[in-house]
Amino acid sequence: MYTYDELKNFVDHCGRCPLARTRNRAVMGRGNLRSPVLFIAEGAGRNEDRDGIPFTGQSGQVFDRLLREIGMTREDVYITNIVKCHPPGNRDPKPEEQEACIPYLKYETLLLRPKMIVCLGRVAAQRIIRPDFRITREHGSFLLRKGVWLTAVYHPSAILRDDTKYPETVVDFRAIKKRLM
Ligand code: SF4
Repeated sequence: MYTYDELKNFVDHCGRCPLARTRNRAVMGRGNLRSPVLFIAEGAGRNEDRDGIPFTGQSGQVFDRLLREIGMTREDVYITNIVKCHPPGNRDPKPEEQEACIPYLKYETLLLRPKMIVCLGRVAAQRIIRPDFRITREHGSFLLRKGVWLTAVYHPSAILRDDTKYPETVVDFRAIKKRLM
């Protein structure tokens, strides 16, 4: 079993897929290693590629606001991505890139042992919950798998594009908080 720092070191120096050639830096997840909740997004964004920190920029601000709605901060949660390197042009990560990177996510999950996994957006939900998961219809629904609650909410960048999604995402976050208590 590797330690968290060893895992981070592997990610920092990883060359398992072509994204290694275009990234500035790999972005390991970040947050409270004892958190009961693990948030998973699809891939490192442009700001993350620059800063090395998950969920910075405007999407990160939306995420922080949603956490505040339920009385939480980044220090209460852990957040990571399916692919740790930024896909050029902010495109969806390709299946083969996800396949190459997913062992890191599995290992993060093993180390964290969360009570709940929250997928941020369609790509993460389709990878983690079900390939045909429909985020518009199924966000906020819960599924218990191997003792871990799985759910999905809109990706904060989708809320930035369409702020009518914010109120229903607050409802989803409240349901998450309730199930964590
Ligand atoms: Fe390695 Fe994942 Fe980055 Fe690909 S996306 S180079 S598998 S860390």
